[in-house]
Amino acid sequence: MDRKLGVYICSGCSIGESIDVNALANVAQDECKAPVCRIHPFLCCEDGLSAIRNDIEHGEVNALVIAGCSPRSKTDAFRFDSQVVMDRVNLREHVAWSHETNNEDTKMLAEDYLRMGIVKSQKMEPLEPFSDGISKTILVVGGGGRGRRRLPLPRRALLYRDDPPDDGHAAAEIPAPIPRPAYRRARAPSPRPRPPPRRAALRRARAGRGSRHRCRAA
Ligand code: SF4
Repeated sequence: MDRKLGVYICSGCSIGESIDVNALANVAQDECKAPVCRIHPFLCCEDGLSAIRNDIEHGEVNALVIAGCSPRSKTDAFRFDSQVVMDRVNLREHVAWSHETNNEDTKMLAEDYLRMGIVKSQKMEPLEPFSDGISKTILVVGGGGRGRRRLPLPRRALLYRDDPPDDGHAAAEIPAPIPRPAYRRARAPSPRPRPPPRRAALRRARAGRGSRHRCRAA
């Protein structure tokens, strides 16, 4: 892929007051031979974004370097065609807001960050969408009897065990359908005898056989 590099430097958010943005543009154009280099006072506004989109649509650039704020901010604004590679250079937090204003070392730091971003954009490949099928096998971590009963059926499942058996495999495959645990089928007999039903006791009393319990007062 023939790289057409576009470097966009934002001077907003106090960047322009701390760093010589024209010196940065010289690094991009003279040293790194970027065919397109623009400085904008507010790159994330509609005017700045439409300048970038315009360059992409007219085929002037296909690799972008956005030098401004942290790549964690304005992510929705700086989202372009997936076939256009892009690197964002953090001049705001890493340089302007955290180093001495208009200092020679600060200027050199900003230039180095910009050079790194340019090389990254030149060597990066566009992202390809992941097109493999999605696995239907599920992993159950700490799956005891209860966990297994809650699994959707029929599904292949890998049961993770935190006490691996002798074979050393922490995960064991459970075939679908997953069998019910054995303790559900076998029921232990109760250790206490059942009391006699109340109706039988009444019948015995009416027949004159009396209660099994004697009255002490009589
Ligand atoms: S938020 Fe980022 S892109 Fe917008 S003005 Fe500030 S540094 Fe520039």
